[in-house]
Amino acid sequence: MTNAPNKVDGFHKLSTLWRIDYEVEALEPLLTRAAYEEAKEEVADLLGKTLPKPELDAVPLLIEGRAVITGNTVKGVFRHIISAQLTEAGKIVCVQDVKKREGVNAEDLGRRGMCGPDDPCEVCKWFGTAGRQGALYFSMLWSKGGMEEVLAAEPIPMVALGEDTKALEAEKGKGKFALLAPVKKGTVFSGWITGDNLSEVIIGAIKEVQDMSEKGFLKLGGYKTRGFGSVKITIKSIEKYRAAPLELEQKYEGDELSTFLKKCQEEYHRFLSGK
Ligand SMILES: [Zn+2]
Repeated sequence: MTNAPNKVDGFHKLSTLWRIDYEVEALEPLLTRAAYEEAKEEVADLLGKTLPKPELDAVPLLIEGRAVITGNTVKGVFRHIISAQLTEAGKIVCVQDVKKREGVNAEDLGRRGMCGPDDPCEVCKWFGTAGRQGALYFSMLWSKGGMEEVLAAEPIPMVALGEDTKALEAEKGKGKFALLAPVKKGTVFSGWITGDNLSEVIIGAIKEVQDMSEKGFLKLGGYKTRGFGSVKITIKSIEKYRAAPLELEQKYEGDELSTFLKKCQEEYHRFLSGK
């Protein structure tokens, strides 16, 4: 919450703060990319097996003994899904330059070019633009169990073919198959989303992503085309605070949470249909 309240788009003052606690359960093996080489040796030691290759090609991101999904990864997936829905509904949504493949015109995709900080589209208002913080902040997600508990017992060998090889950077020049050591199915991560002055529409959009995840449409991490990464989201509670002075105004849990989320989702649907 470092940005000054008057910089939060569309609001002149900070009146409410929100915290959404949620869990993410891996429905398939999950592989977020480790940032450093030593992690591969650590994971190989933990598995304690004689591997058919000198080293693992991909291991999960591990921090302080837990598997971690970064806030950026989660935010990226939420942004992607919500952008696609808003575009489908005919709302003006930009394409971030980093996502744009060469020779692809944003207008051809039904989108506009990347927003400047002073003229954000709805998605940029929620998720931020380059140089401007959006309304939503995504924490890291931490596995509830330690890494001994969450690693799949056997590394998974995978033949690298065609288009996929581009995604398999780790294995270049290291044989004909990749050896992956994912987090196992059933692993539960927990984290939170915070936001300033959140509308029911934004909260409804988050509920919408939860519903999609229940059907297997939400995937995190690498090797998504290879049967990795489906996750289910469960919103556990929502806290609404009055900003000044900081005071818990309402905490939604259980049935109250379900009722509130349903109402928010209806607002989101109304927004999508332009009513
Ligand atoms: Zn935008």
